[in-house]
Parts: sequence; C-alpha cells; structure tokens
Amino acid sequence: MYQLKSCVWELTKTCNMRCLHCGSQAGEGRENELSEPEAFHIADQLIDLGCERVTLIGGEVTLCPYWSRLARYLSDNGIICDIVTNGYQKTEQDFLDFQDSHIVSAAISIDGTEELHNTIRGRKDAFEESERFCRRMAEIKIPLTAVTTITKRCVKVLGAMYDWMAEHEILAWQWQQVTMMGNARDNRLPSLEAEDIEKVFDFYTTLSHKKKLPIILGDNLGYYVEREGKLLHTFHGCAAGLSAIGLDSKGNVRGCASLCDKRYIEGNLREVSLKEIWESSESFAYNRKFVPNWLTGKCLTCGMGADCAGGCRSFNLYQGSLYEHSNCICKYNITGKMLYPSAHEEPPMVLTAGPLPYLDKPCDAYPCIHEREHILLYAGPPLPR
Ligand code: SF4
Ligand code: SF4
Repeated sequence: MYQLKSCVWELTKTCNMRCLHCGSQAGEGRENELSEPEAFHIADQLIDLGCERVTLIGGEVTLCPYWSRLARYLSDNGIICDIVTNGYQKTEQDFLDFQDSHIVSAAISIDGTEELHNTIRGRKDAFEESERFCRRMAEIKIPLTAVTTITKRCVKVLGAMYDWMAEHEILAWQWQQVTMMGNARDNRLPSLEAEDIEKVFDFYTTLSHKKKLPIILGDNLGYYVEREGKLLHTFHGCAAGLSAIGLDSKGNVRGCASLCDKRYIEGNLREVSLKEIWESSESFAYNRKFVPNWLTGKCLTCGMGADCAGGCRSFNLYQGSLYEHSNCICKYNITGKMLYPSAHEEPPMVLTAGPLPYLDKPCDAYPCIHEREHILLYAGPPLPR
C-alpha cells in the first residue's frame, strides 16, 4: 500500500506572462476548469487520504478566483499548503489574500538577473515587479522562497542571483534545470550539457559556503556529484505515484504534474475518486512496477541505478527516454558494463530516443519540478522576520 504524501495542484492554466521556457504554455485557461465546489470536493479527498502537503500552482495561481479560500481550507484541515507565483502585478487585494490563505510559504519564480529575467518573462518590468513583490511579502511576513529554472544563460549569473536573493530576504532558493517541453521546446532553448551541470554544481559548492540562504537542488539536477570530498544530491527515485501526485485544473490525475503526456493521466476526478485511482493496482505502473533492468543507456550501467531509478521521469521523458537521465554527472557512472542484464519484464512505457510525435502538440500541464521541497523546509508556522 502506498501513502500519498504530497500533491502539486494546478488550479488554472491562465497566466499573465508568456515565459520562453513555460512547459505548460500557460496563458489562456483550460476549457472547463474545475469550479470552486469541485475543487473543495477534491480537497476533501486529499484530506481523507492523509495527504500531508499541497502546493498550489498555475498558470498564475493567484488568477484562480478561489485559490486563497482553498488554501485556507486545506491548511485549516491539517495540510501544509504553499504556492508558487510569478509575483507579477500583485494588487493590495492579492496581498490580503496571501494573508488570509494560511499558507506556510510562497515561492516566487526568478529566472535570472534583471535583463535575463525580463527577457525570459517577456515583460520589461518583470524584475522590478518581483522586487516590489518581495518587499511587500516581507512587510506582511509571509515566508518567501524562490524557484529558478536554469537555462544556459542563467548558469553564468547564479552568483549574482544569490546576492539578490539574500538581499530580498528569500529564505531558500531552489534550482531546477530547464526541461525541453512546451515553450522551451518550441523556442528551441538549448538544453544544459554535462559541462553546464558541472558549473552549476561548482556554483552550488561555492555559494553554499556563504551560508546566507540554503540552495535546494531540484529533482532533475542529477545526482551523486562529488565536491570537496562530499557527495551532493543523493536521490532515491522519482516519487511520482509512489508518494506524490499532480492534479491539473480539469481534475486529471498524474503521478507528477510535470508528466504532461496524456498517457500519464491515471484518471479524472470528475469521473472517479482519488482513492480509487490511488489504490488501483494498475495506476502509476511506470514507477510502481519499476525494476532496474528497465533503465537504458548510461543509467543501465550506473552503479546507482537501483537507488535513483534513473532520475527524474519528467525530465527524461522530454529528453527521449523515460529511464535515462541524459546529462547526469554521477560519480558512480564509471562501470562501463551492464549491471542489470537480466531483462525479464518489459516496462509499460519505454520511450525511445528521437522525435516523438506526441510532443508536437502543446503540453497540457505545468512543469512543477519539485515544488514540494519548499514545504519540506517550511512545515512550521510563519518564520519570524
Ligand atoms: S542511474 Fe542514471 S540518473 Fe541515476 S545516478 Fe546513475 S547516471 Fe545518474
Ligand atoms: S519532478 Fe521528476 S523526479 Fe520529481 S516527482 Fe516529478 S517526475 Fe518525479
């Protein structure tokens, strides 16, 4: 029996930005998004299943008219709740909603220093607005974290960004690498290569010494990297369908909201209960039935494959192979021989490298990489300032 612990829930696909890397290609809302009563019915199911943490996202989550009431309901029923926002053009009513929501923290998306952030966000005032947002959140004492999607250009400015984060009272900073889905794919943003990942970990090591704020490495920055004699970012497998789920604004259930392909929809909450989906022996087979000989490429020969299970399913999906993390720089991946040779069972969904026809369509979910880490950090009452 699996215990549901965390849920990332897209409340709307509506967004007031059109970011160059947006995996869900947010902008317009989905047709027929969940109504407030439907959302509250789902909230009751999450509560009944003992879900511990819920992260509300969009699109831009604050454009969902009932987000604050829903967050408060979840929080008041014992669920640790936080949100991810772009922090853009927030009104005084929005700040009142933040205060009323009882969230433990909010995460703002920051994707570079000023010029780069504005370019990615497609708004000349995006960075300035982020600064205003951070100041106002500090005034109303809502703990604030930051999430950065690391693109090639961003790798170079991580040091400058760190200082900005500390100045703006960001309590923790999460890094995730850009995934080739949605707008990132259509805009042909370059993927990070292994040498970029090396630089990211160099920055991580240097910046961590400053001790101004913790840096959290997201699920898709791979794994078992050694710096200064220490092993960084050990990873014990993708949680999708094992302890985590993602919901979209139409009630579709996936193991992770970033697994956008329709084949990863396990059911829809307008038709079937969350309990039935969660407890079905057929659900989330790509993770629940995983065995190491499903790994491909270098992950099949890596000494850590049985532990990390080949890394982030979502990142892998858009690189072409669900069971191989293409730019992982794991120190144990040196064996050069197959460690799991006895293929006795075929995985339910192995994706092969090369162009994938279904990726030509717009993705229909949000890239939620690892938002749940925020709530792991801020599971307590609002922090004193
Ligand atoms: S199995 Fe793959 S993803 Fe996991 S540590 Fe080894 S190389 Fe990295
Ligand atoms: S972000 Fe990646 S590793 Fe984390 S739950 Fe989603 S698919 Fe799995």
